[in-house]
Amino acid sequence: MAKDYSTMTVRELEELRVVMLERIAAVPAFRRGSLQVGYRKCGSANCRCARPGELGHGPRGLWTRTAKGPGGSRGQYIPIASVEQVRAELDNYAAFAALIEDYVEVNEALCKAHLGPPARRGRRADPATGGEKGGSNPARTSSTH
Ligand SMILES: [Zn+2]
Repeated sequence: MAKDYSTMTVRELEELRVVMLERIAAVPAFRRGSLQVGYRKCGSANCRCARPGELGHGPRGLWTRTAKGPGGSRGQYIPIASVEQVRAELDNYAAFAALIEDYVEVNEALCKAHLGPPARRGRRADPATGGEKGGSNPARTSSTH
């Protein structure tokens, strides 16, 4: 969602912040990672799945997620009846992440709006544009560093 919040007023942005937080809170439980569904061999030489021509156990899902630090990567076998539920949980995370990104944008726009429009703050040098000199400098450059 590449929405332009720069034209909104402080009040509008503050209201939007509240609404967005409610939307974020309403996202159902979610998980990151990915889901594969298929047949798997358990590795036991005595199991029927080790026989030639056997597909293996399943079908069932395997959810995995790579992670750094304590706990590391993780996984979970998913019964076939729960595969759709886990797909929904993964979708919920995507929705949550998009909302959060948008929420951050709104907050940054609000912080900028708190300072007011730069054009109306007198003729003082604006650090973001590198001062008053250099007519070829794009005056509307916003500092994104
Ligand atoms: Zn087996």
